[in-house]
Amino acid sequence: MNTFAFLAKSARHNPDGLALVQGSEAITYREFHDRALAIGGNLLAAGCSPGDRVAFCLANSPRIMELIFGCFAAGLIVVPVNARLHAREMAYIVGNSGARILVHGDEFQAGIAANADLFAGVVRYCSGSADGAQPFSALQDPAQMLSAPVDAAPEDLCWLFYTSGTTGKPKGAMWNHRMVRCVIMNYLADLHNIQPGEVVLHCAPMSHGSGIIALPTVARGAVNAITDTASFDVDSLLATVERLKVSHIAFMAPTQIVKMLEDFQPGKHDISSLRAICYGGAPIYVEQLKQAVQTFGPVFVQLYGQGESPITITGMSARQHQELLDAGDPRIGSAGQTRTDVEAHCVDENDNPLPPGEAGEVVARGDVVMPGYWQNPEASAEALRGGWLHTGDIGYFDDRGYLFLLDRAKDMVISGGNNVYPREVEEVLIQHPKIANCVVFGIPDDYWGEAVHAVIVLTPGEALTAKEVIDFCGEHMAGYKKPKAVDFVNELPVSGYGKILRREVRDAYWQGHSSRIGGGAGAKGPNG
Ligand code: AMP
Repeated sequence: MNTFAFLAKSARHNPDGLALVQGSEAITYREFHDRALAIGGNLLAAGCSPGDRVAFCLANSPRIMELIFGCFAAGLIVVPVNARLHAREMAYIVGNSGARILVHGDEFQAGIAANADLFAGVVRYCSGSADGAQPFSALQDPAQMLSAPVDAAPEDLCWLFYTSGTTGKPKGAMWNHRMVRCVIMNYLADLHNIQPGEVVLHCAPMSHGSGIIALPTVARGAVNAITDTASFDVDSLLATVERLKVSHIAFMAPTQIVKMLEDFQPGKHDISSLRAICYGGAPIYVEQLKQAVQTFGPVFVQLYGQGESPITITGMSARQHQELLDAGDPRIGSAGQTRTDVEAHCVDENDNPLPPGEAGEVVARGDVVMPGYWQNPEASAEALRGGWLHTGDIGYFDDRGYLFLLDRAKDMVISGGNNVYPREVEEVLIQHPKIANCVVFGIPDDYWGEAVHAVIVLTPGEALTAKEVIDFCGEHMAGYKKPKAVDFVNELPVSGYGKILRREVRDAYWQGHSSRIGGGAGAKGPNG
């Protein structure tokens, strides 16, 4: 079965129902279905064969969904590239995946032209008119429309998801048709049961989580609405929620939720249609989550996963959020419980399973886990050793199976022989009313090995000294976890997917020193 069948079914059940909406553009399921079959036919006519890679680097638009399903229809492997990357970073992914075709937006033309040698041999299609590229409309020629999608086996690859590469070069997590269908069904079963006709809004890059959530939306014949602006603007987002009666915001990075809290104007827009806002991809601080639920109601759905196990390993439903908050239960600070068809636990440095309460690396297995990285057998064998996906995340499960994520293994600080999890320190700092944002990491220290260091963004108009910050931490945590020094900055760097780039801030402090990489498993949890 080809995953295209999910679109075919929605087009048969509700051909005139809205499928894709952006600004004044509104595409029905019949049109979406036919356009995807046309794109698939044109890609094959352009010389692609099933199994070839087709990369795209486009700002959010209905074209993305047409391309994804066009690739499914033709048995091609789609390679989404984050539209916020530099042309050279895009070229790395295009080259590493061996993509024959690149579909890109007008705005990338200058960067591609300046790095033309890196794109040699790649056939390009551009959303506007560009030298050396054909127009996107050439892929829409109805004369080449496929009469039916090609057959696909469950193991046939259909997607390469490039990791964000915050540590090292991006790697292409391979997804096959079975995995993608599992992701779709699991989302509906465990996270949010999208209904036909429901409106799902995308305001985060569709090359990442939002694009994945667009798949169950298609499978259910619901509407994928896409915000008009490439930048994240809270007022226009909430105006769109009101106008389209949006019930579900597909995916938000925690930084976007924080921005919503900052810019929200109560009563300005009627957002009572909202039932679910799905978030994840990075930790959200408990204080911010509490405020978000108080402000927007019990609509938040958390997911924890990674490109190697898309969308979810664990999750927390909107109902669970409310129950935990009402009960004052600290499990609200967890990443929820393992989803229905996934197995997960934590292991020590020798891959031995750990009992509840002991921290180690989170490992997972199930049909949502990738079969490996594209053309990278060493990294695949390392990540999948023993048949379990090693996530690189350190955490512990409690006795009820709630997963508490402590940090990325590579971010743990070892100070004077003690493990310090930056996130734990950040959770405390963010409670200070004068602190708007922060990152914590280890820096080289002759005495301690590594010293805990905080970089802080103050709330506008406020002032704090480093001593006041350190003393505040001392009121809430063990002495060895307190930052030894504090720097203040105006803003923190954020990745194209909304994650605060702790490594980028940290690296400036490590220049000229050899960095210890990977605290790894064997770390201590609350019981260890
Ligand atoms: P990506 O592959 O870009 O989606 O990044 C996945 C990584 O983001 C995970 O390995 C975690 O480190 C982090 N992450 C994802 N979801 C969550 C979450 N709910 N809470 C904390 N960290 C998360």
